Amino acid sequence: MAEVTAVARAAATGAEKPAEMAAAAGPGRLTVITGPSGVGKGTLVAALRQRHPQIWLSVSATTRAPRSGEQEGEHYFFMSREQFEQQVAAAGLLEWAEFAGNLYGTPRAPVSEHLAQGQPVLLEIELEGARQVRRSFPQGFQVFIEPPSLQELERRIRGRGTDDDSAIERRLRRAREELAAAPEFDAVVVNADLETAIGELEALLRLASS
Ligand code: ADP
Ligand code: 5GP
Repeated sequence: MAEVTAVARAAATGAEKPAEMAAAAGPGRLTVITGPSGVGKGTLVAALRQRHPQIWLSVSATTRAPRSGEQEGEHYFFMSREQFEQQVAAAGLLEWAEFAGNLYGTPRAPVSEHLAQGQPVLLEIELEGARQVRRSFPQGFQVFIEPPSLQELERRIRGRGTDDDSAIERRLRRAREELAAAPEFDAVVVNADLETAIGELEALLRLASS
């Protein structure tokens, strides 16, 4: 793996918002985590949740087929395109977007409920959804996860073994577009060394490191 030290920085453009202000916004705090497919978002979020069980992770709706081991209601709410479109029509989604040929969206009501209860809320979503949430929740905090290199990103997607060649190609093409948007975010974390990246996220989200 490339020897790159993870760095977090305040974004130079986009919403000029000190990290401490955004992370402290209450009653609950909404954090969006975005980054190219395969960069390690799921791995990072799982580690954060294990260490900080008070975090509530939104479960998205998707029209993608379940991968082996994925459970309904735990990893996603799996639905047909028709069911998804009904959710959109009923304004049941806080944001939604098409990604690599499938629809993904965040159910609105549970996010509002957990924020009202004062819980830290995490959304792990792609770029278009992050942009929508930025408009509806400007007080939220948005972190972009970068790979140490595109070669390492491809290695991770292939290593995960969940996508066929055409899906990998689509995900890599989209990754290049997403990487260009990193400066829009409040902070960028490079997921080179996993432990370092987790520590940086804990610092950005004001979670006591364990
Ligand atoms: P995403 O949720 O962003 O699509 P995943 O969390 O599924 O990405 O990670 C993709 C692959 O990369 C997985 O096989 C995971 O174990 C691996 N991975 C995640 N973080 C790192 C890291 N810091 N170094 C090496 N491999 C990693
Ligand atoms: P995957 O198919 O690998 O689970 O997810 C593909 C992409 O969809 C990832 O970038 C993931 O962050 C994003 N994603 C997952 N749920 C949502 C959602 O609710 N809304 C949006 N906009 N993107 C999502």
